[in-house]
Amino acid sequence: MSTPLFESHQLTKDFGGLRAVNELSFHVNEGEIFGLIGPNGSGKTTVFNLINGYYPITSGHIRFQGHTLNGLPTWKICKLGIGRTFQIVKPLRRMTVLENVMTAAFNHTESVARSREKAMEVLDFCGLADRKDESARGLPLGHRKRLEIARALATGPKLLLLDETMAGLTPQEQADGVALIRRIRDSGITVIIVEHIMRVIMSLCDRLLCINYGQRIAEGSPEEVANHPAVIEAYLGKD
Ligand code: ADP
Ligand code: MG
Repeated sequence: MSTPLFESHQLTKDFGGLRAVNELSFHVNEGEIFGLIGPNGSGKTTVFNLINGYYPITSGHIRFQGHTLNGLPTWKICKLGIGRTFQIVKPLRRMTVLENVMTAAFNHTESVARSREKAMEVLDFCGLADRKDESARGLPLGHRKRLEIARALATGPKLLLLDETMAGLTPQEQADGVALIRRIRDSGITVIIVEHIMRVIMSLCDRLLCINYGQRIAEGSPEEVANHPAVIEAYLGKD
C-alpha cells in the first residue's frame, strides 16, 4: 500500500485544562473526500487549526507528503500545499471578488499577471466569474462561502480543508456546493470536509471519522459511521 497523503499520529491539543483534541490518529489517502464529523465543540475546527499551523500542537505529530508539519508556520504549510477555509467567512471586504482571490494566488507566484490569470481560472471553476468586479462586502452568504472556497483553491492546494462551507445555505446552494466539491476532487485535490449537514456528508465522503471530546468514536464508510451506536449516542444523547 502506498503512503497516505496525510497522517496524524496521537494528535493532542490542550487549551489550559481543556483537552480539545485527544490522541487522534487518522490518515487520508490521495484523491479521497474524507469527512470529519462530531457534535458541536468536539474539536473539528481545532484539528484544522493544528493541521495548518494556526495553533501549536501539544503532542503527537502530523505528516503531509513525507514532511512533518509540527512547528511550521501557517504560510509554510500553505506553500507545501494545504489550503483551508474558515467556519466564519472573512473576505477582505474592501476588495473586489477578483482581488480577494488574487491575494490568495500570490501564494505561488509573484507576478500580478499570473495571479490574475490563476484567480480568473478559479473564479470560473467556482461559478463566480460574473461577480469578479463586485465588492466582497456585498455578496450574499452563498457567494461568500463560494468565494472562501475560491480563495483556498487559488493558493494551489493538494489537500483542501473545508470547514462548514454549507452551513446556512439553501438546499439548491448545498447541491451546487456538493457538485463543486466533487469537481475539486476530480481535478486532483484531496479534501477533508467538516460539515453538519448529514445529507451532504453521506453523499460526498469516501470515508468518515467521527470524534467526540476530541477523541475518535468511529471511523469507516459513511453508512458504517452513521449507524454506529456511539455516533448516534453522541448526536442524540443516551436517551
Ligand atoms: P468544533 O469545531 O467541533 O465545534 P472546536 O474545535 O471549535 O469544536 O472546539 C473544541 C473545544 O475546544 C471546545 O470546547 C472549544 O471551546 C475549545 N476551544 C477551541 N478553540 C479554543 C481556544 N482558542 N481557546 C480555548 N478553548 C478553545
Ligand atoms: Mg467548528
